[in-house]
Amino acid sequence: MDGLPKLRRASSRAGSGGPSCRVRGARLVGPRKPTDAPNTLARVRNVTHELIGVSAAIGAAKVARLGPAAISAAAAAAVYGSWLPDIDQFGTRVHRRSRLERRSLVAGAVGALLRLPLVAFGALASHRAATHSALACVAVTGGVGLALTPLGLAVAPIVAGGMGLGYAAHVLADACTPAGVRLWWPLSRRRVWLLPAGRRIATGTIRELLLATCVLALVVGLVVA
Ligand SMILES: [Zn+2]
Repeated sequence: MDGLPKLRRASSRAGSGGPSCRVRGARLVGPRKPTDAPNTLARVRNVTHELIGVSAAIGAAKVARLGPAAISAAAAAAVYGSWLPDIDQFGTRVHRRSRLERRSLVAGAVGALLRLPLVAFGALASHRAATHSALACVAVTGGVGLALTPLGLAVAPIVAGGMGLGYAAHVLADACTPAGVRLWWPLSRRRVWLLPAGRRIATGTIRELLLATCVLALVVGLVVA
C-alpha cells in the first residue's frame, strides 16, 4: 500500500491492501517509520470496514422498520460479515482468536476447531479474488440464511441480511482502493474499481481516516434518528 511498509505475505499475492486488509501477525519488511503514526492510522483499517457494514445494516433495518433488538442483531452480524472477505489472508481479524479463546482452554480448543475450515480455505484462496466477488456476497448471504432457517424466519433473514451487507460493504470498500477487486470472478479476472485513478483510497491514509470519520457520523445519525 502506498506509503506503508510492505507486508511480505501480501506482496506475494494480489497486491496492495484495502481498508480491511490489515495483517497484524505478518512480518514487516522494509524500513520502519521513525514514529508510531503509521501504526495509529493502520488501526483504522478494520474499523473502516466495520463502520461501513454497520451503517448499511442499520440503514436497511431502519428502512424495514425493524425493532431495536433486530437492528442490533443485524449490526452485529454486519461486523462479522465485514471481517469475512479477508479470510483469504492470514493474520486478519477473522483469523485471530477472541479474548475468550485466549483466556479459556475449552473456548480456545472449540475456536481452533471451528476455525479449521477458515484456515484451510485461507491457505488455498488467492487474495481479493473469489472472496472479494459479487458471487461471494450472494453465496454468503444465501448460505447463512439457509443455515439459520431452523431458527425461524424472525432470525434468519435479519442475521443473513446483516452479514451479507457487512460482507458486500467490505468488497465495495476494497473496490475503492488502489488494488481494486475481482468483482466478477469467476466470469472475469479483471480488477474493478469504484473510483477513478487518483481518487482511490489507500489503506492507512488520511483519506481513509476521513472516510471512517464520516461513516461514524452516519452511524451515529442512523442510531439516534
Ligand atoms: Zn479485503
